[in-house]
Amino acid sequence: MKKILVTGGLGYIGSHTVVELQAEGYDVLVVDNLSNSKEEVKARIEDISGQSLELQIADINDTNALESLFSKHQFDGVIHFAAHKAVGESVEHPVMYYQNNVSGLISLLGTMEKYGVSNLIFSSSCTVYGAATDLPVTESTQIQKAESPYGTTKILGEEIINDFAKHKGFKSILLRYFNPVGAHPSAKIGELPLGVPNNLIPYITQTAAGIREKLTVFGDDYNTEDGTCVRDYIHVVDLAKAHVKALSYCDKMSQNVDVFNVGTGKGNTVLEVINTFEKVNGVKLNYTIGSRRGGDIEQIYADTTKVNNLLGWSAKYGIADMMKHAWAWQQGLSD
Ligand code: NAD
Ligand code: UDP
Repeated sequence: MKKILVTGGLGYIGSHTVVELQAEGYDVLVVDNLSNSKEEVKARIEDISGQSLELQIADINDTNALESLFSKHQFDGVIHFAAHKAVGESVEHPVMYYQNNVSGLISLLGTMEKYGVSNLIFSSSCTVYGAATDLPVTESTQIQKAESPYGTTKILGEEIINDFAKHKGFKSILLRYFNPVGAHPSAKIGELPLGVPNNLIPYITQTAAGIREKLTVFGDDYNTEDGTCVRDYIHVVDLAKAHVKALSYCDKMSQNVDVFNVGTGKGNTVLEVINTFEKVNGVKLNYTIGSRRGGDIEQIYADTTKVNNLLGWSAKYGIADMMKHAWAWQQGLSD
């Protein structure tokens, strides 16, 4: 049985990935410092998978804690989710973001090197493409200077891994996520946004639940079908499954590093998302059209040819499932 270390495995994408790893027969150990998750997620994962999960509460910047883990366990691979992810917060606290996202990665890589562990899956983002003009974006679309310290930490992370992987035998896959949304169909795990959400889907579900009074659509004067921005929303369970595929691809790839877009390949406007939410859940949303949000790009969606062909992965869930599962999760939270 292969043993995988999952950093940040109690978080939103991490928890769904642990479920998929366990379902595929991997032995999983999670390290998480609970900075953006709760310890109870472990029991929820175990409830879904019917298997026990090893958890170490520790910070990946604590190299002693990491070394203690690597000395006790022989890992066959690492999936690295642990990072801060709020764009706005990163503008206010850039050092905190570089410390956690960049230094944390360096601490992890150093420990992997010391213990001879290869096969790293890294959470990157379509934010590295910035406001790309040629759509859909492929993996060779030009990377652009990031708009925020958070975005820069993803570009730096990719570069650091590229340099590091030149060490003989070290393999890594960079997954550039598009917009992860939804929740596990069991409604036992999902996203736990702290405070007022910045992202569209948690804002929609909280508005539907009466936690927020009204959703504002940020601009309807873009050059898109209905004037609202276009994103490639990807169900978090589909995204989780891509990590499992990436792990097995690590073993057979010839080069040291490879990069994949992980999206559906289909863009949806904000109004399409809202309309789908209302339709599949039979809920009316209180929303208004407001002005554009600074820093938003007009549209982005993925060319998924590479991930489809090489990883043998494609998204199974559509936007209706994403909205249904997001709402079921929110309703469980409000109980
Ligand atoms: P999340 O905040 O839900 O999960 C991150 C987990 O890492 C949390 O459980 C947190 O407690 C833990 N963590 C953070 N810093 C840590 C540290 N120093 N040591 C140990 N644990 C630590 O975030 P998520 O949405 O699951 O995102 C996972 C990864 O995917 C992140 O790297 C994020 O930047 C990236 N990503 C997320 C999105 C998105 O929209 N959610 C999009 C693209 C990329
Ligand atoms: N959005 C919106 N109202 C909100 C939150 C988001 O209209 O309250 C829009 C936002 O302008 C963008 C889309 O929804 O076009 C997705 O935003 P999100 O923050 O979820 O993802 P990102 O901008 O990072 O792609």
